[in-house]
Amino acid sequence: MQVQQNYSLKTYNTFGVEAYAKYFASFSSIDELNLVLTDYSSGSTLILGGGSNILFIKNYDGLVLKNEITGIHTIHEDEDHIYVKTGAGENWHRFVMHCINNNFAGVENLSLIPGCVGASPMQNIGAYGAEIKDIFLSLEAFHVSEKKIVNFSLNDCDFGYRDSVFKGKYKDQFIILTVTYRLNKKPQFNISYGAIKEELDKRGVNELSIQSISQAIINIRSSKLPDPNVIGNAGSFFKNPEVTQHEFHQLKRINPNIIGYEMQNGNVKMAAAWLIEQCGWKGFRRGDAGCHNKQALVLVNYGTASGKEINDLGEEIKQSVKEKFGVELETEVNII
Ligand SMILES: Cc1cc2nc3c(=O)[nH]c(=O)nc-3n(C[C@H](O)[C@H](O)[C@H](O)COP(=O)(O)OP(=O)(O)OC[C@H]3O[C@@H](n4cnc5c(N)ncnc54)[C@H](O)[C@@H]3O)c2cc1C
Repeated sequence: MQVQQNYSLKTYNTFGVEAYAKYFASFSSIDELNLVLTDYSSGSTLILGGGSNILFIKNYDGLVLKNEITGIHTIHEDEDHIYVKTGAGENWHRFVMHCINNNFAGVENLSLIPGCVGASPMQNIGAYGAEIKDIFLSLEAFHVSEKKIVNFSLNDCDFGYRDSVFKGKYKDQFIILTVTYRLNKKPQFNISYGAIKEELDKRGVNELSIQSISQAIINIRSSKLPDPNVIGNAGSFFKNPEVTQHEFHQLKRINPNIIGYEMQNGNVKMAAAWLIEQCGWKGFRRGDAGCHNKQALVLVNYGTASGKEINDLGEEIKQSVKEKFGVELETEVNII
């Protein structure tokens, strides 16, 4: 483990924007982490997984730590469940494929999400009707200033829609080291969301399995979302906004085609992509910063855009949605 100075982060974020870290190191054990924090504990610290939910708008004046703790281990099983403990630096999709290949159910709808296991509880990653909170058991995290390991249960994490205590009251205080998931031996298929059923029909799948659902989701995602290896992006730049039933009906009276889904709490979650599209942003490009032409929720870097240019575009989009619909969009990507 070597601490580098003035280190380029361009290949460490999927937007592919240039930014420099004052100090940079990767660690693959708690001992290495302790060592580097002992030497560089005075400034600020940023933990990096796959950099797929981050936008650097300036250089980072502190220590950037790349988590490379790996390993996927079954630690326990009972009649209904398999308990799998996974290193935070493990690639998320590799973990998903490990589960699919071993018939551990519960993560199939979360196939092909970029990034690392350690970031999955950060924003309670979710897709196609599933969230990690549904399979989360516990995690171990290192308290940066107190230099001790703390265990978090499901309740401790306070998961919400793309949210957890690690984005809120414990922001920047903990480094997630391992996550333990509780997978199901008996699958409960969820194909009600998006185009899953259509994709399964297209492929002539008559008998459902976690393998066929995972493959359907991989196909849908590959055809719909821009590949960060080709066009820089971090997936959805904004969250889908939540409004009350009353607010939604008022908006619907003026905009009959507006898209919203009723939630369990009685509120309505609106499709941010639709709102953005109605404001004319879909396919918009200024320099190398743009709003994707197939997915209005995804901001992109066509080449040499700076983080600031992309973030400025995001702010303009927010402003115009607010002016046209009176709805406040919240950024999902972590702006650093
Ligand atoms: C094409 C594309 C599609 C996507 N689709 C989805 C989707 O369907 N659903 C979804 O939820 N997200 C999606 N994302 C966003 C992203 O992939 C996820 O949020 C992912 O979990 C981020 O993982 P990461 O390792 O890249 O995190 P990073 O971007 O490296 O970090 C994200 C945040 O987590 C913190 N962090 C990372 N690791 C740790 C750790 N070990 N301990 C403490 N803090 C940590 C970082 O400091 C940062 O604040 C998509 C992104 C892309 C590019």
